[in-house]
Amino acid sequence: MLEIRNLRKTYPGGVQALRGVSLKIQTGMFGLLGPNGAGKSTLMKCVATLLEPDDGSITLNELDVRRQKDDVRRVLGYLPQDFGLYPSLTAEQMLDYLACMKGLIERSERKRVVAALLERVNLASVKKRRLGSYSGGMRQRFGIAQALLGSPKLLVVDEPTAGLDPEERNRFQNLLAELSGEIVVLLSTHIVSDVTALCRDMAIIRDGSIVHHGTPRDAVAAMRGKVWEKVVPRALVDKYRSRLPVISANPSIDGIRLRVLSDGDPATSFSAGDGFVAVEANLEDVYFSFVNAPEAQGSLAGSGSSYSA
Ligand code: ADP
Repeated sequence: MLEIRNLRKTYPGGVQALRGVSLKIQTGMFGLLGPNGAGKSTLMKCVATLLEPDDGSITLNELDVRRQKDDVRRVLGYLPQDFGLYPSLTAEQMLDYLACMKGLIERSERKRVVAALLERVNLASVKKRRLGSYSGGMRQRFGIAQALLGSPKLLVVDEPTAGLDPEERNRFQNLLAELSGEIVVLLSTHIVSDVTALCRDMAIIRDGSIVHHGTPRDAVAAMRGKVWEKVVPRALVDKYRSRLPVISANPSIDGIRLRVLSDGDPATSFSAGDGFVAVEANLEDVYFSFVNAPEAQGSLAGSGSSYSA
């Protein structure tokens, strides 16, 4: 288990990237969902021993992550957001080199491990190609292969699907889903479908604070009957926004499709609010309500949310 307690980090210049983050993360895939600038990478780097927090503690099973960095690094796999590769090396050469760095000295053993990992991430057929010629999705799959060197107990992957096209994302999600249930996988993302597809547990981070923690299923269930939809003319969107907690506003052929968070029919609280229909809630509604309409989310009856401003 990974336990993070009251973690704080302020960057030089004054940005408070983490404002007392606490999370208990069990074995399996955990999704940390949040918009750009929310503090995801900062949290990931602290967990991966690459950044020193100002305050708080992190423990991985019996290890104190802040004090036993070398021990943690031995059982840690990390795929950073900006993962550098030597473009002129082939995947096989680069992984062999990284395996060497990880301490796999014995040549035949290293060869076996490298071949097995390339097979696992479905790159065996292109292992002789230079990394510079790889697509974004192939690079990320290579990134997972290097992160799995040394059979980690904790795998930290920071925004791994950002920039991938839908097919590559799907393929990458499949790869993550196949990872053993024996380890903790901490996945940061701003893409809701990553969490829907993969995660048993998740948290939403916003402005350096955790605003929700729970299973995706419970989060969606708590919103049931509270999401209302209506298509309105573009010119009226701001008016609706000022009167109702709008979760999302998406263009559609006949106007803007608003989704609103409300315990009952919005018509009762706002005279122009008629014409809304109750719709099935989904994880995007959960996410966008915490990010775009946090006050309304916090005041929902029986939402079970852990939102605190
Ligand atoms: P996310 O990964 O969710 O996009 P980050 O953890 O990268 O968020 O950033 C959180 C906040 O900290 C942002 O406001 C960002 O601009 C700021 N920040 C990140 N890294 C640095 C840094 N090295 N120096 C100063 N501010 C930083």
